[in-house]
Amino acid sequence: MSQPHRVIVIGAGKGNGIDYVVVDKESAPRDRNWGVTIAWSHPLLAQLLPKELFSRLPECQPDPNLDSKAARFESVIIRDGQSGATLVQPPFPGVRRLNIQKTRTLWSKDVNVKFGKTLSDIEQTTDGVVAHFHDGTSEKGTVLVGADGGSSFVRRWILGDEAASIVLPYIFLNFPVRYTAEQALKMDKMMHPIVDVGVHPKSMYVGIFLLDKPVLDQPETWIFYLLATWPKNKQTEPSDNQNMVDELRQRMDGWADPYKSAVEWIPEHVQAKVVPLKIWGPKTDWSNQSGRVTLAGDAAHSMTFHRGQGANNAICDSERFVAAMVKVQSSEATLAEAMAEYDRDVITRGRQEVEVSRTQTEAFHDYANFLNSPVVKYGIKPISDVTNQKS
Ligand SMILES: Cc1cc2nc3c(=O)[nH]c(=O)nc-3n(C[C@H](O)[C@H](O)[C@H](O)COP(=O)(O)OP(=O)(O)OC[C@H]3O[C@@H](n4cnc5c(N)ncnc54)[C@H](O)[C@@H]3O)c2cc1C
Repeated sequence: MSQPHRVIVIGAGKGNGIDYVVVDKESAPRDRNWGVTIAWSHPLLAQLLPKELFSRLPECQPDPNLDSKAARFESVIIRDGQSGATLVQPPFPGVRRLNIQKTRTLWSKDVNVKFGKTLSDIEQTTDGVVAHFHDGTSEKGTVLVGADGGSSFVRRWILGDEAASIVLPYIFLNFPVRYTAEQALKMDKMMHPIVDVGVHPKSMYVGIFLLDKPVLDQPETWIFYLLATWPKNKQTEPSDNQNMVDELRQRMDGWADPYKSAVEWIPEHVQAKVVPLKIWGPKTDWSNQSGRVTLAGDAAHSMTFHRGQGANNAICDSERFVAAMVKVQSSEATLAEAMAEYDRDVITRGRQEVEVSRTQTEAFHDYANFLNSPVVKYGIKPISDVTNQKS
């Protein structure tokens, strides 16, 4: 007799009347923290989340009080880093930032998630799959989804060497920072509250974002977040332990506010290491082992953050995967059929956006041609909208 339908999700997910388990190697809802811009995936989130959680999205924002519509900030801003003047301000209805740590903490409530389990092997049986973990435990199911991020184990298991990420030739820094109360208030006023990024003629990108306001009326507790990229110089590769904040400070001459002050005000003790800027997109279709194993999110398509599309696509994958599983549950499609349809969409959409985002990364370091770049031409819309408009 074959086993009942059961989904094993490595990394993230939730139910919909379908038996499932989510397994994550992190010891708690989130060890690391950053922010993501949610734009076109909003309606999909409304479908995926229980009503109560969807209505609590503001709690997951860096500033829970920000209503981007009421505050007339339904956009992101890209400035000329040299003058501070707006180059482009792509609008998006309802756009909001989500703090990853707050989001995971709230959304993991009432989800069957087991933390502290690192996937170490996948075994196929006659009627399903078994996921094995480093702690010696395992989970049985009928289908396994690798939502295990940019360095996905599941992707390596399916594709071997083809799963290796490409490291782009840029220095990449991302780190949180607290300012004095006075500076925090000034920064909060100066910057766009959703996304405020600058492109500079000296081939450099800097972004300043709010990450959290733990105590609303104590600006000294507010946490900001800085992102910076510039092309690598092979002669002066930084060492793994080098504090790149010093290097960033030295590169800020000729920058205008808010970026100038955002870096100038970084307290002396703040440290940041260089992080590899990795991408991966499917070159060919992957084999989903007759519908037993597939990928979602960054595991299926890791893209640079410069067009803010990774989380939007990951949410889209979840919505499509749940729809596929509903079809299987209701016998509208076999597992192999539903998964083939799911994979076709994820692979096509992912492959396109990984390339568009890579082009956007290059454009942020090519000031002269920046105005021809995807974010200027298409804003932060999904790439499928753009290709559909063309056809
Ligand atoms: C600095 C930065 C800024 C970004 N800004 C934006 C933005 O503005 N807009 C946007 O849309 N996207 C943005 N992104 C991208 C976005 O964060 C990712 O696309 C999104 O988080 C992908 O989610 P995921 O669940 O696929 O992967 P992840 O968030 O990486 O989650 C993977 C999970 O899998 C778990 N895991 C990994 N390996 C194993 C294993 N072997 N066993 C068990 N568990 C495992 C990890 O613990 C982790 O919890 C940004 C990314 C960064 C780094």
